[in-house]
Amino acid sequence: MTHIFPRHTAMRLPRAVSGDGCYIIDDSGKRYLDASGGAAVSCLGHSDKTITEAIKRQLDAIPFAHTGFFTSEAAEDLADLLIAHAPGDLDRVYLVSGGSEAVEAAIKLARQYHLERGEPSRARIIARRQSYHGNTIGALSAGGNMWRREPFGPLLVDMSHIAPCYAYRDQRDDESAEEYGRRVADELETEILARGPETIAAFIAEPVVGATLGAVPAVPGYFARVREICARYGVLLILDEVMCGMGRTGHLFACEADGVEPDILCIAKGLGAGYQPIGATLCSAAIYSAIETGSGLFQHGHTYLGHPAAAAAGRAVVSALVERDLVARSRDMGAKLDAALRDRFGQHPHVGDIRGRGLFLGLELVADRDSKATFDPARKLNATIKKAAFARGLICYPMGGTIDGRHGDHILLAPPFILEEAQIGELVDKLAGAIEDGLAS
Ligand code: PMP
Repeated sequence: MTHIFPRHTAMRLPRAVSGDGCYIIDDSGKRYLDASGGAAVSCLGHSDKTITEAIKRQLDAIPFAHTGFFTSEAAEDLADLLIAHAPGDLDRVYLVSGGSEAVEAAIKLARQYHLERGEPSRARIIARRQSYHGNTIGALSAGGNMWRREPFGPLLVDMSHIAPCYAYRDQRDDESAEEYGRRVADELETEILARGPETIAAFIAEPVVGATLGAVPAVPGYFARVREICARYGVLLILDEVMCGMGRTGHLFACEADGVEPDILCIAKGLGAGYQPIGATLCSAAIYSAIETGSGLFQHGHTYLGHPAAAAAGRAVVSALVERDLVARSRDMGAKLDAALRDRFGQHPHVGDIRGRGLFLGLELVADRDSKATFDPARKLNATIKKAAFARGLICYPMGGTIDGRHGDHILLAPPFILEEAQIGELVDKLAGAIEDGLAS
């Protein structure tokens, strides 16, 4: 008996006791191949001594000094390292403790930017349906996952939601990918004009949709069009790369592949690689300058902002990604895993789509490939597959059910970038077994 409060109260989970590269070992000695990096977190695997040593050195020097009084070398170095590689005008880094905090900071920063510039009517955030931006009230308000939102409806902030860019389901037969991308991007303009541009603070989107759709990138041209529309109406573009950032897609920042430069960018997960809880909100020089020359205070903060041990972990992780060329490895191993998945599941009657970028890949399960009919959500296929995979010693991230009124079952794969070719076979074999177990049950 323990007094721990598990999220799923009925679940009896094994204890994780050690890590070995891409594997987690439980208290019975069972080994699990971590094919989802938890939830796209563990980009360096579970036993990287360079990261644990870097954290230990920081803890021995100074474990914590409140940012109301001090900065730290680790935090400053991490910010400089991120900005050295960040796209566009991103110039400043606000260090927080996770993804939801990064999104909360982004939303409040967008709001305060407009206030500082004398546009107090700009308060509304536009987001997309079938999205996930975190579980705190602001981030949950932005997210388009009705199941997560519903119980908290009265507490949520009113935000607008437009269509996601989800070509597999929504691109019409009579339109090209580019035409489709333009059509859905133009929903942003329609919403801005309907509400009045002077009321809109920002648009937020994930470059590659993770937790709700299973590694869905936008079609070419979508984000370029979104960027154009945001600029035309003075709306800030916030990209949420909490899941898809930090090399996961084969680019350090996922938006590089779309050639789009955000005003604000959120990262977390891979930034600490699971070694410490850390997230960051990056913003442009113009946004920072509006605050610096305005009130001089970002009216937001947490006790653990810029935590030195977390920053030391982040600095060591980003250094490892850059120095060991692990982003290219994510791209190369991602191409190999993608090929292996297509080889095994390309003709599978219940795998409708295989998609993603780098080591951020998704499979969409369908009852029928031609009609793309989904499985009955009551069947909880994704949960059954997750359980079957775990029994087989494979950690993957199935999700689905009913999200924003639409059904679907997806499996997200996001293994550590140190994944070896020999492990791809094990991953695909175990996944195939788990899918068959799930379909048979
Ligand atoms: N944004 C995105 C895109 C995410 O995938 C997540 C987590 N799955 C979050 C925000 C929230 O991050 P956290 O769980 O660290 O609060």
